[in-house]
Amino acid sequence: MTVLASGSKGNATVIAAGSTTILVDAGMSCKELLRRMAQVGEDPGALNAILITHEHLDHVAGLSVLARRLKIPVFFTEQTHRAWVRMMTPRTTMSYTKWLELMQREKEVRAEKTAAACASQEEVGDSSDQGMEEVSVDPLSDSVASVETDASVPKVKADPAFLPAVEYFRAGHGFSIGEIDVNPFTIPHDAADPCGFVFHARPESIRMAIATDLGYVPPNVKMALKHVDVLLLESNHDLEMLKDGPYPWSVKQRVLSRVGHLSNAAAAEFLLHDYDGGAHTIVLGHLSESNNLPELARLAAEQAIGDRMSLLGNRVVLARQDAPLDPICL
Ligand SMILES: [Zn+2]
Ligand SMILES: [Zn+2]
Repeated sequence: MTVLASGSKGNATVIAAGSTTILVDAGMSCKELLRRMAQVGEDPGALNAILITHEHLDHVAGLSVLARRLKIPVFFTEQTHRAWVRMMTPRTTMSYTKWLELMQREKEVRAEKTAAACASQEEVGDSSDQGMEEVSVDPLSDSVASVETDASVPKVKADPAFLPAVEYFRAGHGFSIGEIDVNPFTIPHDAADPCGFVFHARPESIRMAIATDLGYVPPNVKMALKHVDVLLLESNHDLEMLKDGPYPWSVKQRVLSRVGHLSNAAAAEFLLHDYDGGAHTIVLGHLSESNNLPELARLAAEQAIGDRMSLLGNRVVLARQDAPLDPICL
């Protein structure tokens, strides 16, 4: 496992076993991902597939460019793929509030036009209802503005959501990519269909897991994270720092919610009560740059692991946003 980047500005991890290499998430520019792979001696040409946990930008920012450049398939759940396509398609990237504003503006324009038409019709003494038809345009149908926009762009335009190949998986249903068995599991997070993964290298009988971007650790995640040799676990924020920190209240609420991010305390709680203690290395990831300190995350985890830490097992490593980690090889 090589963590290329971890945090709210971008996530990407290389998982390799035998002749199979998978990139989990592509949350930085293609250029930066390639730069980091070169830095740790990973060959991009060796990548067999890209696997996506969820559609948030810090997990997909470089996805389309990288997949197209390397001509490799991308594995999503169907819902995550759909959400990503919606995000990538300019006409639908509009927020609901923006859409409402646009509709309101168009309504006003139509009302003005109608008023002008009525006025001119009155001048010529025509009382037909032609003008009224324009007002009754269904607001849910294609708006006038977007139809005009579409007509003004070239007919054949590049599809921003084009990928060389798309494969669907479902949480709870294992599948294989080359020599690696992949077991996706559902995580509680505010995305369309977010997943964590357990990777099993069959010949070596080694299991590695990724569980970041989760509001809490539900029973299915506790089950999935049993008997893993390397665990990348979220340790997003220190509760006190988040409460006193710079985020607006609404964002604090989101992070703290059951579909937000895992705190140092919640990660420690998992390590203390639910973790089976068998990992070689625990990587703490997705650390917030505003609401956490590496020392706080490490301290919480190490206290929770307590005397189970040894030279051979339960080494705690902190993933970084600004630089890749050295490969963790078993
Ligand atoms: Zn994230
Ligand atoms: Zn996320």
